Amino acid sequence: MKPAEFSILIADDERDIIASVAEHITQLSRRFKQTVHIHSASSAIEVLDVLGSQDVDALLLDYHFEGGMNGDEIMDTMSDPFGQKLIILMSGRPPKELEQLVIKRHKKLGGRFRFLRKPFETLELQEMYLQVLDFLGNRPYPCPLAYTHQVMTGATTAHDRLRSLKDVVESLISYSVGVFTADCKRLGCLPAMKVKLANGPITLGAWLRWLTTAHSCIASQSGEPFMPELLQLFSDTTGGASAVKLLYEFKNEVRDTELAHWFAREEDWYDRIVERYAGEIQSMFDGFVFTTRYPLLTVETIDLPRCLATFRYSVRSLMGVSGPFPVNSIDTQERLTKGEVFAYRPRGTFLCLHPVIRFEMCGKCSVRRFFFLEQAAPSKFTYRAHCNHLLERERPGGNQDTWFSELPVALFSSA
Ligand SMILES: [Zn+2]
Repeated sequence: MKPAEFSILIADDERDIIASVAEHITQLSRRFKQTVHIHSASSAIEVLDVLGSQDVDALLLDYHFEGGMNGDEIMDTMSDPFGQKLIILMSGRPPKELEQLVIKRHKKLGGRFRFLRKPFETLELQEMYLQVLDFLGNRPYPCPLAYTHQVMTGATTAHDRLRSLKDVVESLISYSVGVFTADCKRLGCLPAMKVKLANGPITLGAWLRWLTTAHSCIASQSGEPFMPELLQLFSDTTGGASAVKLLYEFKNEVRDTELAHWFAREEDWYDRIVERYAGEIQSMFDGFVFTTRYPLLTVETIDLPRCLATFRYSVRSLMGVSGPFPVNSIDTQERLTKGEVFAYRPRGTFLCLHPVIRFEMCGKCSVRRFFFLEQAAPSKFTYRAHCNHLLERERPGGNQDTWFSELPVALFSSA
């Protein structure tokens, strides 16, 4: 799936090169019907500034800058712990000078590194643009989404396909709710998010109401959302209303209780429903391609502070269909708790998705899995993983965990 929207940084100390490359990229993006946000930088400091303030997906980086760091040193300095960015190094220096550098970078960065020889022709720039699309289109989705989608693609009977469509829908909704709810907390509007959950498993209908409530809560805030693309996806101006309508229709027609209890229907019925929804749900899934920008992660170990207030964490990035997930090291001033799942923004901030999503050992399978919130009772949270096993977590009172103490007000009602 190619991204409909991405962001590229053109870094060169010659401004006319930035201008001409930007113009070509704009033309190409029109031809391929994409929205490309173009940033530029003409010094090493500016490059690092842009990377710290914008979500950049690809870098077109000149080797030579007047004074300061060169492109090679910038690559060493910039932070990209999950290998999310494609780096294209440009240079017009004699091949002999760059040979070793290019080999070294290929070894270190593999497919994330490309080299573009200056001066280049428009065809080469077009080739580069297509490489960016390929790279971004192949970045893995967050595990819970990638996993349900893979099951859907592999399902053969109509009944299995319908169940897997339901799993895809549920994972998209729970993921979105997890992000929106966490963002409500970050933006300080959690008390305004009045979601009423009955004292039982959260139904698809309840998830949908939660989704729309949390969405409008974020939309009414002036602060910048953590995942602007997600907010847009469900906004009226971008067809969000029809996305929600589709989800409601699917819920009503499929009647999750019947599926959950294996209420056997004629095979024709399953065929018809699958036929009706498969295409639309696939395009909805494709619309979530921006989630590949936001690695989900969980903390493995926490080191003592590196320096004042900065911690080094070993984190596992939870992207793609299944493990073993790679471990990376991250330095940050933010306090990250073990056992919780975070979304990571390319410019280096974190959003804690607790309590909607957890990544923990399933006691029955002895494998670490993603758990989505299944039930929120006054005393405990119950979670369910795709293996269908449950996980229970107490909800202690007091100030031990602000999430646990704040959420009951907003999340739980004995109605
Ligand atoms: Zn299990």
